Amino acid sequence: MIPFLDLKAQYQSIKSEIDAAVLGVLASGQYVLGEEVIRLEQEFADYCNVKHAIAVNTGTSALHLSLLAAGVGPGDEVITVPFTFVATVSAICYTGATPVFVDVDPVTLTMDPAQLEAKITSRTKAIIPVHLYGQMADMDRIKAVADHYRIPIIEDACQAHGAEYKGARAGSIGTSGCFSFYPGKNLGACGEGGIAVTNSDEQAKTMRILRDWGQEQRYHHLLKGFNYRMDAIQGAILRVKLRHLEAWTEARRSHGRRYSSLLAGAPHLQTPVEAADRRHVYHVYAVRSRDRDGLQRVLTAEGIPSGLHYPIPVHLQKAHADLGYRVGDFPVSEAAAREVLSLPIYPEMPVQHVDQVAAALEYAYVS
Ligand SMILES: *Cc1c(COP(=O)(O)O)cnc(C)c1O
Repeated sequence: MIPFLDLKAQYQSIKSEIDAAVLGVLASGQYVLGEEVIRLEQEFADYCNVKHAIAVNTGTSALHLSLLAAGVGPGDEVITVPFTFVATVSAICYTGATPVFVDVDPVTLTMDPAQLEAKITSRTKAIIPVHLYGQMADMDRIKAVADHYRIPIIEDACQAHGAEYKGARAGSIGTSGCFSFYPGKNLGACGEGGIAVTNSDEQAKTMRILRDWGQEQRYHHLLKGFNYRMDAIQGAILRVKLRHLEAWTEARRSHGRRYSSLLAGAPHLQTPVEAADRRHVYHVYAVRSRDRDGLQRVLTAEGIPSGLHYPIPVHLQKAHADLGYRVGDFPVSEAAAREVLSLPIYPEMPVQHVDQVAAALEYAYVS
């Protein structure tokens, strides 16, 4: 039995550290925000090479607060991609702004910079590139357009902890960057969590106020805020896990490369492309195939789980039908949604399992 990912294996590998951190919080009596969360913010900001980090309850909340801090509201437009997890788009809708889509590049499946400029209008208030699967979007080209029109970039780095673009960490290039600590993410809490990072003192201050009911001082509400605070237990657990993140990332990268070398030359599928100027952190290892469903059936018959990230692009989701998009509007995203297949990958994954999955895929071709 090969699991798609194994969160229990990670817990077992650092059980004593996690248990001590949790018990410490239980004994402290400080259960929301507090010292552990403040320290996580400092350590995660250092990890991303940025000045500030604001810990929140989910990655979606980090996106929502980043948009609000950038001044986005009703009547505005925010540009993003349709080939992403729905949360990117939901966060835009929370502000009352309208999501505007740009198709993705067929090779990296991240925002196609060549199609960005045509989507900018006088109402565009932010651009959200998504660092899909753990590989950063083409930030130089996106930033050139954004800077020309003076539009802030908010990086959706929810799948890209520790990813790099020409040596710059995910989250450090845009006006702000947003990360999720959902358990299955590269850095995962034992529950929900998220964080926004920024070099802007002003944006950091606004996000900090907004996440805690719009107050800086108790019961003095400066802004209409939210309860987006992080639990202390999650802060303490994430601090422990952050110390292991680089080793886990290297294990993911090594599994990703092993898959790619074992599957190189398999004529029925394409392996993911690691751009030379980027550090891919393999949140997801997705191959592409015209016969994706056939491949998935073979894997399932062999007892190998796989995933679809994502089977329906956001512009074709029922929930967003009000935006008025149709089949054919974003052909690259639509083709990717039909063709991508995510294989099991997680840091503790035994190398033999990587080999078994690759062998099953090769067998699928022969049969
Ligand atoms: C996970 C994810 C989010 C949302 O994060 P949550 O912590 O689940 O709210 C947003 N964008 C992308 C690309 C994600 O993968």
